[in-house]
Amino acid sequence: MANPISRRTFLKATAGGLVVAGAGIGAGYYLNKENIKGKILIIGGGAAGCSFAARLMHRLKNPDITLIDPSDRQYYQPGFTFIASGVFQADEVWKPQSECLPKGVKWVKDSVVALDPVKQTARTAGGQTFTYDFLVLTPGLQLNWNKVEGISRETLGTGNAHCIYDFEGAQKTWPAIQEFVKKGGRGVFTDTYTKLKCGGAPKKICLLTEHWARKQNARKNVQIDYYCCSDALYNVPHYAPRLIEIYQERNIGLELKTRVKGIDTLTKQVHLEKHETKKVKEFDEAQGREVEVEKKIVTPFVEDYDFLSFVPPQSAPDFVRESGLSWTEGSLAKDAWVMVDKETLIHKTFPNVVSLGDVAGIPTSKTSSAIRMQLPVAVQNFIDVMKGKEPSKKYNGYACCPIVTDYGHVLLAEFDYNKEADITFPFSLLDMSKEQYLAWVLKHDFLKPMFFHGMLNGWM
Ligand SMILES: Cc1cc2nc3c(=O)[nH]c(=O)nc-3n(C[C@H](O)[C@H](O)[C@H](O)COP(=O)(O)OP(=O)(O)OC[C@H]3O[C@@H](n4cnc5c(N)ncnc54)[C@H](O)[C@@H]3O)c2cc1C
Repeated sequence: MANPISRRTFLKATAGGLVVAGAGIGAGYYLNKENIKGKILIIGGGAAGCSFAARLMHRLKNPDITLIDPSDRQYYQPGFTFIASGVFQADEVWKPQSECLPKGVKWVKDSVVALDPVKQTARTAGGQTFTYDFLVLTPGLQLNWNKVEGISRETLGTGNAHCIYDFEGAQKTWPAIQEFVKKGGRGVFTDTYTKLKCGGAPKKICLLTEHWARKQNARKNVQIDYYCCSDALYNVPHYAPRLIEIYQERNIGLELKTRVKGIDTLTKQVHLEKHETKKVKEFDEAQGREVEVEKKIVTPFVEDYDFLSFVPPQSAPDFVRESGLSWTEGSLAKDAWVMVDKETLIHKTFPNVVSLGDVAGIPTSKTSSAIRMQLPVAVQNFIDVMKGKEPSKKYNGYACCPIVTDYGHVLLAEFDYNKEADITFPFSLLDMSKEQYLAWVLKHDFLKPMFFHGMLNGWM
């Protein structure tokens, strides 16, 4: 693949750019601190909640911020794919939460179990109740392990069935991939039918396994198949043709509209269902003749595997579903995603609530790169609301999904709500409908430090 800018030049240029940008933003924020009063509660201090808190600390004078989160650790979850493919060590992708949350924020190490937006209260598992004037709802999403029969989070790895969406699961995956490639056999890779964080991740681990087999001169020993729940491998037109071409070039079997129902870890068989809409002929009593109707047909089948990668269905956390803050109709209602305006990220019925990140019910990808673009909009609109004003900023749905296609290349899919390519500099200088080495450099060398030192600190 052509590489017009050397790795060294890129590293230097970007590092310089980041320093300049960081210094500029910082100075601006410190000079303009606002004196607005109100009790702010943040639920969830992950990529979205921690970064939001940091930005509020930059923007407000002595703010009253309480953040509830049970986790000791702040994970850089995009690194899970790289743990599972032997690129990162497990300890490289997390930091103690105490080092990440901004000073001045009161951290309550507990889980919210009930939220009442009318009374403006949140109750925790530890039995405390917190009141708020303004709420930042950022608890991420819930992995519903119980919706895959035959396996649980605790039994991950049993029967060589693996999942990279879990920190421990990702660690078990890498030795299993190496062993699978050494021994040979059939690798079955799957995704899930709900909205999921980083929809590219299941494809990345499939493509990296295929490349690993080639690197080990063992490709002829392994069969690799990908079962995709959607009716297309990728739904952003600018990037989809090349991704499909890569699957074809690399002889990876592709079956669409297929979801995992369960796993038999003893026999190493995965139970799948093909969900199709088909035209069938039916006798219509009223018309007294056969007519053609569209019917949803579910066809169950079973496949043997030697190595399996699966993804649990995902939804908003239960306490969000029960809070009355979720969508009640439309495609985002079933899994209880939070009913925010897709441009302002302010809740549609409770204007003192903002939500962003994975839990937000907006029609874009659930990635931390999307959160990076949601943050300035959500923070400004939240401050507008605190001041009694209308939200002034709009989010265009930007998300970025770096689909790692091999050890050295990434198909960097950047797009907006309209599923149109929204390519940022310097990538706008390249043909980003194809995988690029420069995008690998970004993913491999830059995104993790940008996350821990830029985004979580509220600087980018
Ligand atoms: C395998 C994998 C690969 C990925 N790859 C990429 C990628 O390449 N690029 C990219 O941009 N993104 C990627 N992502 C997605 C990215 O990690 C998420 O979109 C991002 O972390 C979401 O941030 P969030 O703050 O909404 O949720 P999280 O970061 O998950 O944080 C949620 C926080 O809320 C807390 N919480 C949960 N429940 C409660 C409760 N009841 N009460 C209080 N606190 C609670 C949690 O402890 C956690 O700290 C990937 C994710 C995975 C799993």
